[in-house]
Amino acid sequence: MKIVLWRFAHDCLPTGHQLRRRNISTCDLCCHCGRHETIEHTFISCQYVAEIWRELKKRSGFKSLVKYFGSPRDWISQMLAGCTEMEATILVIAIWHIWESRNAVRNGKNEVHPHCIVEKILAYVDMVLLHMFKPVPSNRCDSPRRKKWDPPPEGWVMVNVDATVFQRANRMGMGIVIRNHKSEFLAAYRQGLDRIIEPELAEAFAFRQAVTFTLGLNYKRAIIASDCLSLVQKLHFKTLDRSNTWIIVEDIKKMACIPTVALSFVHISRCCNEVAHVLARSADQLVEKSWFHVPPEFLWYTLCNDL
Ligand SMILES: [Zn+2]
Repeated sequence: MKIVLWRFAHDCLPTGHQLRRRNISTCDLCCHCGRHETIEHTFISCQYVAEIWRELKKRSGFKSLVKYFGSPRDWISQMLAGCTEMEATILVIAIWHIWESRNAVRNGKNEVHPHCIVEKILAYVDMVLLHMFKPVPSNRCDSPRRKKWDPPPEGWVMVNVDATVFQRANRMGMGIVIRNHKSEFLAAYRQGLDRIIEPELAEAFAFRQAVTFTLGLNYKRAIIASDCLSLVQKLHFKTLDRSNTWIIVEDIKKMACIPTVALSFVHISRCCNEVAHVLARSADQLVEKSWFHVPPEFLWYTLCNDL
């Protein structure tokens, strides 16, 4: 994110215009609208991007853009000069996402609706603001003192998993974050799934995915932590579960029986599962699966704060 911002301010992002200036033969037209792709066009005047800014303004109260664009550096300085801390956060995250979405389309991915980009931006902003500006609601914790996330013992990884149900959209989101005994981030995963709105079922799907994801990355000793108590209890029952999650619960139990791996299923309080929760929440409009070895900056920020 910082690199994109730095390159934006120094006008050295490889837009079509820049590439043409450097005599690199490539298409110098905007991938969204087909116009000449200057830096101003890419981030401000393209209709696709203008819709992102419009929607951001509507949804988050983000300020209007500075009209005059002498140079990227002047523009960003003027923008930041009039911004609150929160607006600056939105601005930086939006610039990063606009560039990412432009690259995705140029690399052959389907163009998504500008409002989906806004959802993505706001989810990232939420993640950052959750820990920078918003007070933590007291009802999120069992004890008056905020509990901290505890790292696993050496040689083990801790896998935090959570699911969220979006009733109106008729879908669920899942978030999975893996860290080691030094609290170092190792990998994360998120996914949206359609037509699953029963909370425990959603948690079960997410949990199974957490096990699959962990084993897929070859971690042999893992503590898989969920804040869904009923599910964790079912995973420990010896008898056959008769609810609609039984088939998934049985699946998960089978995976735990692989002789070469040690998996431990634990229940944790919700405030120790915040990262997975926010990641799950950010999967509302996103259909694609995504996982990362290198943490996006927002995730890193949260992890550094011991959540
Ligand atoms: Zn355009």
